[in-house]
Amino acid sequence: MGSPLLNVAGVEVSPDHYIDGRRVASAQTFELFSPIDQRLLGHVAEGLDEHVDAAIRAAERAFPAWSALSAAERKPLLDRFAEEIGKRAEALCVVESNDAGVLLSRMRHGVVPRAMLNLTWFAEHALTLQDRTIDTPQAQHLVRHDPAGVVVIITPWNSPLLLSTWKLGPALAAGNCCVLKPPEWAPLTCSLLADAAHAAGLPPGVFNVVQGSGKTTGAKLVSDPRIARVSFTGSVPTARWIAQAAGANLVPCSLELGGKSPFIVLEDADLDNAAATGALMYRNAGQVCLAGTRFLVHERIAPRFIEAMRGYVDRLNIGDPREESTEVGPVIHPRQVERVKAFVDRAVAGGARVLWGGAMHPFGAQYVQPTMLTDVGQQDEIVQNEVFGPVLTLQTFTDDDEAVQLANGTDYGLGGVCYGETAHATAVAQRVRTGFIWVNSFGIRDLAAPFGGIKRSGVGREGGDWSFEFFCDVKDVVVPKKPFRASFSQR
Ligand code: NAD
Repeated sequence: MGSPLLNVAGVEVSPDHYIDGRRVASAQTFELFSPIDQRLLGHVAEGLDEHVDAAIRAAERAFPAWSALSAAERKPLLDRFAEEIGKRAEALCVVESNDAGVLLSRMRHGVVPRAMLNLTWFAEHALTLQDRTIDTPQAQHLVRHDPAGVVVIITPWNSPLLLSTWKLGPALAAGNCCVLKPPEWAPLTCSLLADAAHAAGLPPGVFNVVQGSGKTTGAKLVSDPRIARVSFTGSVPTARWIAQAAGANLVPCSLELGGKSPFIVLEDADLDNAAATGALMYRNAGQVCLAGTRFLVHERIAPRFIEAMRGYVDRLNIGDPREESTEVGPVIHPRQVERVKAFVDRAVAGGARVLWGGAMHPFGAQYVQPTMLTDVGQQDEIVQNEVFGPVLTLQTFTDDDEAVQLANGTDYGLGGVCYGETAHATAVAQRVRTGFIWVNSFGIRDLAAPFGGIKRSGVGREGGDWSFEFFCDVKDVVVPKKPFRASFSQR
């Protein structure tokens, strides 16, 4: 028997897990609050050992039949899954906006269409995952991509629907069965995702959702020896823990982690364009892993750039994410607000100067002003560590070499932005050590392209063939061309 549904701004959402094709309540629940106004959204099922075990068993049971289907046979089911997401589009938008504070406008125009595409695109792309043959004089090697087995997916709160489907799409299309653990601060759109999968007719056990805290439910899932892969997006400390737990069973992990990406403005940049893009770094209240958060600006243009960006920041519409015109919403949780404030306080105490912001915004308890700090040193905490809030830093440089040195001078290596005359900016961008970098632009993504970080920003790549490389076992079936006779002198 399922628990009573929650009512989130008029949308009904199950607070239960989804295991083996049905809703499963828990003897323990956790409270969920909205970042918009701290109101209680409801009590959500906590994943206990029995739920983790049941979900993994269900996925194991479903695996033989699901993995035996061809990509062409799985595709209509995944297309229907996407259609069911489409039917729930407005519900997903309203719920994630209330639950995670993501802008309703961004949910409508960006996240929900992308969540659907995450399923349809990978279902289509899986058709190209044909077995390859390598012909040698001795033998034919039939190289297969076999689904790996039970995949555990763990996602963070800053964009749960988008990031969960980004992993689910390729994992399911390749023939794996999945257990998703959504973030405990924003689990509700993943519950709606389970409704969509159910309505689409995904066989029981192919996709399971177990909610709960990372330290208990998540830890139990990733430590289980029955799983074949862990696909994780989140913070560096959690990734270290997961890699160790999964490593004990030699289970491969894909780790998409934090960033401290440079936003370089060269002397020959179009300042107005760069400044307009700069203000975009406050999107989702700065809770975006790939945002350029360290501004590195040529010293000769720095005063003009600062004034241009200040103009855009002053005009940002800060407020309720449910309003279509809002551009910057709340920080996810009171604990995250405290963390962000403490970063700013320590930086200012250490000599940083506030160019703008630096305080709470009057709109509400979880709204932090878009902030820019300067007079910071490369080794300062605020330059080296990810804040994950609307707080940026600005340093100046005198030539390209110094810009590259500053850009590469942290332990992170996720993304970057480089503004300047195109050939010049492209040349500088190529010297920045990150997984990706945008020249005179920001946020252009394609599902076929590789995505991921280097250094502390992650291990592995997602997107296109890279997703399938991770979610599949590659096997070489060797068939000799001439009759084979056993011989001890064989090489
Ligand atoms: P987090 O690491 O605290 O939590 C992420 C997920 O891991 C949550 O679901 C949590 O419950 C779970 N978790 C926590 N401890 C666990 C454990 N011991 N075992 C298993 N699971 C555990 O991260 P967060 O605060 O939710 O998210 C913010 C972080 O995510 C930032 O560092 C951000 O940069 C990063 N992020 C990276 C990308 C990317 O693609 N590179 C995208 C979005 C967010």
